[in-house]
Amino acid sequence: MILHEKFNLFCWLWIGIGLVIFPVLLKVKQPYGRHATKGWGPVIRNRAGWFLMELPALLVFGYFVSFSDFKNQTVAAAVVLWAIHYIHRSIIFPFRLKTKGKMMPLVIVFSAILFNTINGFFNGYWLAYFVPDGTDKVILNARLIIGGIVFLSGFLINQYHDWLLIQLRKDNTAGYRIPHGGFFKLISCPNYLGEIITWTGFLIVTSSLPAFAFLIWTLVNLVPRALDHHQWYQKHFPDYPSKRKALVPYLL
Ligand code: NDP
Repeated sequence: MILHEKFNLFCWLWIGIGLVIFPVLLKVKQPYGRHATKGWGPVIRNRAGWFLMELPALLVFGYFVSFSDFKNQTVAAAVVLWAIHYIHRSIIFPFRLKTKGKMMPLVIVFSAILFNTINGFFNGYWLAYFVPDGTDKVILNARLIIGGIVFLSGFLINQYHDWLLIQLRKDNTAGYRIPHGGFFKLISCPNYLGEIITWTGFLIVTSSLPAFAFLIWTLVNLVPRALDHHQWYQKHFPDYPSKRKALVPYLL
């Protein structure tokens, strides 16, 4: 078993790596979807890429969390929420995409596999070995209720806006259109905002360092990508709504 201090140190290192990568991603567009360009090496079909890169989060987390005490309410809540998100993301989401003929560089798939394996390990291992059992009942209930509501709100926001985006190609045409509906009125990437809210909820539920690391990494991945998407829309659609922001209504 890993000592708690060592585990925390690795977690902080993981957060530090994320903070170093953040400015890099502000300069270099993540080369998948609309930002895919040649020169990133071998590619794989988009759908297969999504399935392969998200599955480790389910498997690695599942393996480590199987050593947990499921009577602990924090463990039970975290497992349910993780399963809700990752069963959808790894098994359902790839098959919902209208992504015919699209390819994704293997470098993206491998980096996401690494990201999901590390996150799955940290969060599963923490729940198995370091979750406290004697938390004050009132604080525990507040955490579970507030965190659960935040998580599920984020999940629904993410789902709904991903669905609106996928619907834009319901006639099986390729290419991009200006998305409308829901929070698209205010921002270009409400699906990413929903994802960020989801992992904020998970952090509230567990109050753990691994969940904090996951939220930081989600921001590292999605803030630069939202800014890139927003600029891309403005460049490609002269009639793009001028008041729309990238990720945070009225602010960013
Ligand atoms: P995007 O918003 O780039 O795309 C989502 C889907 O909608 C893709 O199939 C895309 O096609 C399609 N699409 C997007 N915009 C349009 C448009 N204007 N017109 C037509 N089709 C469109 O999301 P990502 O692919 O980056 O991410 C997918 C999910 O994964 C999101 O829910 C995101 O939150 C989550 N995610 C989470 C991360 C984390 O760190 N937690 C990191 C990355 C993603 P195409 O692929 O052809 O562009």
